[in-house]
Amino acid sequence: MANYDAIVIGAGNGGLTAAATLAKEGLDVLLLERHNIPGGAATSFCRGRFEFEVALHQLSGLGTPDKPGLLRTALDRLGVLDDLEFVEISDLYHIATPDGFRLTIRPDRIEAAAAFQEKFPHEKDAIQGYFDLLENFANDFIGAFIFRDPEASREKYPRLYENAFKPSSEILDSFFSDPLLKAALSVYWGYLGVPPTRLAFAYLAMIFFQYVEFKPFHVKGGSQALSNAILNKFLSYGGTARFNCGANKILVEDGAVTGVLTATDEKINCAHVISNASQVSTYTELIDPQHVPDSVTIEMKGRRLSTSAFSMFVGFDCSPDELGITVSTNFLMAAPDISDAILERMRRIDIEDELMVMSCYDIADPDFSPPGTCQVNIVTLKYADPWLQIPPAKYHETKYRCAEGMLKRMEEIFPGARSHIEEIEVATPLTHMRYLGTPGGAIYGYEQLPKDSLFFQPGRYAPINGLLFAGGWIGDCGFEPTLRSGISAAKSIIKRLGQGRKKS
Ligand SMILES: Cc1cc2nc3c(=O)[nH]c(=O)nc-3n(C[C@H](O)[C@H](O)[C@H](O)COP(=O)(O)OP(=O)(O)OC[C@H]3O[C@@H](n4cnc5c(N)ncnc54)[C@H](O)[C@@H]3O)c2cc1C
Repeated sequence: MANYDAIVIGAGNGGLTAAATLAKEGLDVLLLERHNIPGGAATSFCRGRFEFEVALHQLSGLGTPDKPGLLRTALDRLGVLDDLEFVEISDLYHIATPDGFRLTIRPDRIEAAAAFQEKFPHEKDAIQGYFDLLENFANDFIGAFIFRDPEASREKYPRLYENAFKPSSEILDSFFSDPLLKAALSVYWGYLGVPPTRLAFAYLAMIFFQYVEFKPFHVKGGSQALSNAILNKFLSYGGTARFNCGANKILVEDGAVTGVLTATDEKINCAHVISNASQVSTYTELIDPQHVPDSVTIEMKGRRLSTSAFSMFVGFDCSPDELGITVSTNFLMAAPDISDAILERMRRIDIEDELMVMSCYDIADPDFSPPGTCQVNIVTLKYADPWLQIPPAKYHETKYRCAEGMLKRMEEIFPGARSHIEEIEVATPLTHMRYLGTPGGAIYGYEQLPKDSLFFQPGRYAPINGLLFAGGWIGDCGFEPTLRSGISAAKSIIKRLGQGRKKS
């Protein structure tokens, strides 16, 4: 029977960095992935002459060599930085509405504030006040939370204590009266999956601050290049990877992990498992119920699944310029409101006035698509529940009706785009369920509500000895947090084992 020091289940961002970190330290590691390629959401697929990016719109936390963010440092330590080329995206985002409103924001605090002030002169002072709050809040957050100030207190960090858990909409309402301005300042709720009425201001403030300070990036070759680079590093450190080979069971005896049963019914011994699969499927499918402590079930019942998504991938037979696309990240907005109506839209099937993010990767990287072509990835957030009620015979008709709704918005903003379509593919919440293997096709783990927020995250440890988690279900979602979560989980094992066991 095979023996490994650790088995990592899932080759998504968190699984890949966990596996590579352990292998770098000399541990014998087996990486099991049900799919035939690494990456989980961080992947691509081909249609015709296009390779479509699945998930990455804007990579956060990278920073520049002169001002590195936490992610750059982490990838450097892992040894993969030199194998990758990052492309800085020169815009933060562009807002476009069907009635002709256009606003481009650059990733610079002063320029961003000025751009909002120019478009909304009636809110000029309030905009300055809001940007001051963002800056002060972020400084408080970094001091108290990132640097873990042992003397953190309400008196020392007043903006943090006062505002962190307030709904973002409450803060925006307290500054502004223009609905379009409020909506334009809070579009990043879409990257977190929680509408501004429920999104803790800490999240909105820090995501905006992160992108402005450390700049948004893309990866040359897309997120698949990032996943491939980490996998290759893992293999070069002596790790073993098996694709098309899921884990069927995590074996537990006397409250401790003893091994894994693969989908081919092979039993493999190990004392440590890092699960990059969803926490829900790990506890309800991979571990037999008698080994799952009641505390875990109670905690899971208190949490909600995040939203899924409806995505459209379009390859065009012309340059972005010919379509009128000049900015990488475009928020296509039809109903500029930040109310709970957003949730109603996320819970219905049809696409009418949803917020959509449309990324055109060829703006920052003209080699992204074949010469003379370009591609866009358009996403709107949707829960899976109504999709699960659609009879199979109606699925295709429904999917293309929704795609038509998306195309209609695109055409309103970029007239004539339809006549240049060469390839098109559509992903619904059911597609995400199938490919990510997450319940409800959740793309952001559990819903990131204040009570489950970064301030109170349950640890990556499970109450089963030797079981740890990496990925979007044990903390924040997104590329940066999930990549870093795998490294943290691996370090916990290394620390427990004492001295790193370097191979000779
Ligand atoms: C449409 C979309 C757009 C997004 N846009 C952005 C963005 O712009 N910026 C950003 O930062 N983030 C974005 N995200 C979020 C980001 O992609 C995810 O947070 C991140 O990739 C999740 O990584 P993870 O480590 O949780 O693993 P996942 O990607 O969830 O991968 C888990 C892996 O585990 C495998 N697995 C599951 N069960 C088993 C099993 N039993 N045995 C073996 N393998 C198993 C799965 O096949 C999968 O490969 C987006 C996500 C989506 C879907």
